[in-house]
Amino acid sequence: MEPGGDHAVADAPREKCGVVGVSLADRAAARPLYYALYALQHRGQESAGIVTHDGFQQHSHVERGLVGDAFDEDDLASLSGHTGIGHVRYPTAGSLDKSCAQPFSVSFKSGSLGLSHNGNLVNADEVRTDLEAVGHAFTSDGDTEVIAHDLARNLLEEDLVRAVKHTMNRIHGSYSLTIAHDDTVLGVRDPLGNRPLCLGELEDGYVIASESAAIDTLDGELIRDVRPGELVVLEPDGSGYDTYQLVDSGSTAHCFFEHVYFARPDSVIDDHLVYEVRRDLGAKLWEESGVEADVVMPVPDSGRAFAAGYADAANETTAAGEPRADDDDGVEFAEGLMKNRYVGRTFIMPTQDERERAVRLKLNPIRSTVEGKSVTIIDDSIVRGTTSTQLVDLVREAGAEEVHLRIGAPPIVAPCYFGIDMATRDELIAADRSVAEIREAVAADSLAYLSIDAIAETLDASRTDLCLGCVTGEYPFDVEEEATDRAVDRPSIDDVPADD
Ligand code: AMP
Repeated sequence: MEPGGDHAVADAPREKCGVVGVSLADRAAARPLYYALYALQHRGQESAGIVTHDGFQQHSHVERGLVGDAFDEDDLASLSGHTGIGHVRYPTAGSLDKSCAQPFSVSFKSGSLGLSHNGNLVNADEVRTDLEAVGHAFTSDGDTEVIAHDLARNLLEEDLVRAVKHTMNRIHGSYSLTIAHDDTVLGVRDPLGNRPLCLGELEDGYVIASESAAIDTLDGELIRDVRPGELVVLEPDGSGYDTYQLVDSGSTAHCFFEHVYFARPDSVIDDHLVYEVRRDLGAKLWEESGVEADVVMPVPDSGRAFAAGYADAANETTAAGEPRADDDDGVEFAEGLMKNRYVGRTFIMPTQDERERAVRLKLNPIRSTVEGKSVTIIDDSIVRGTTSTQLVDLVREAGAEEVHLRIGAPPIVAPCYFGIDMATRDELIAADRSVAEIREAVAADSLAYLSIDAIAETLDASRTDLCLGCVTGEYPFDVEEEATDRAVDRPSIDDVPADD
């Protein structure tokens, strides 16, 4: 079997999703949840859903499509109650049908449960098989339902905190969850903190969300990130919250790609403002591999902050690292590529031909910016190489004399199993090519990527605090057929003291 080939995790939906939960004093939760989902729309466009609880019963509305299309006034009015959770989803594999849309909700003997999940479990099949053996019936092939059933089962016998702890010890992989147990809203982050999750205060309650931009949208204040292995329980009346450090793994595996590409630049993740991270990475890109050129231009929108940091650094020092002389004009930072905002992400085009067409539809060079000039194009990442190949070609056609490419991430050599929908391994241009070969393939005059060390330094982290799976091929979780970069310790359920 090829690495990354036919095994459970590779086939499971790799969900890049957004989650949110709110608990308010005496205001309906539906509309704030709806606004928060709008703020998280970039994390998933396939379906959107909200589950609320009015103190007596649970209400749910889950629909395919964008947030703005998934709800109308009547839907929001029907979602009564002051507490609830929400979800936006974009799966890349697995079933696209509505049974996988979230929040997943279920009613059982001791109440109702709603679950929103961002991430991917590595042992969902194993847990599902065990639960099926004791009579649980599943309606979807997603791993979120597995978490819901395991938790529902534990809740029959123990209190909420212990039940969550047992479930956390049973499931392995990446998960940031918001959970509604009747009218109690919880937030849970996996023991390595792979996907982001943060806690915020509103005027009349509290919010837990994938990204702080959602808290800003609700006029709230970010309190802090939810810690890896931590459970946050919001009071149903919005008056406060309790936290429990349920699992202490002693290390982290924060996804660096959230900072590079996925998260909004205005979000603060694990104490770092994403925009500043991207600017710093851009400056490091200049220090590591700057090339003198007339114009520096970003690939909008993902390359913007990188290009700004790169150009600022380039106007301070030369590519050789010397201070610029007073009569040295340095480089010009220019918006040389215009983006058509109405074209969906190139990624969702199913064939290579359509992906290429989509790049041309999406981006168009401004001739006067590039004509007769040496140009450096800055993007955050190269995945399949489609965007870079097309852009180098377009910019040359528009009259550029030299086209250099600088990338704000290391080469992506392996798939992501934990929440970002990258391509499969054989689609990744860097999976089996050197940088020189990639430069040739995209036909740039020069190409350089950022180093892994620059990423770790900018995030004030050591390599082993980060999930670098897509750039090293070594993962923080135990993925079948893949290498791991750490000792994977999986405590069994029996290791959890009953009275702990
Ligand atoms: P590609 O054209 O396949 O090389 O993809 C690279 C472009 O897609 C870059 O402009 C990135 O900003 C963007 N990109 C990187 N990762 C992703 C992702 N997971 N989903 C969608 N787009 C992405």
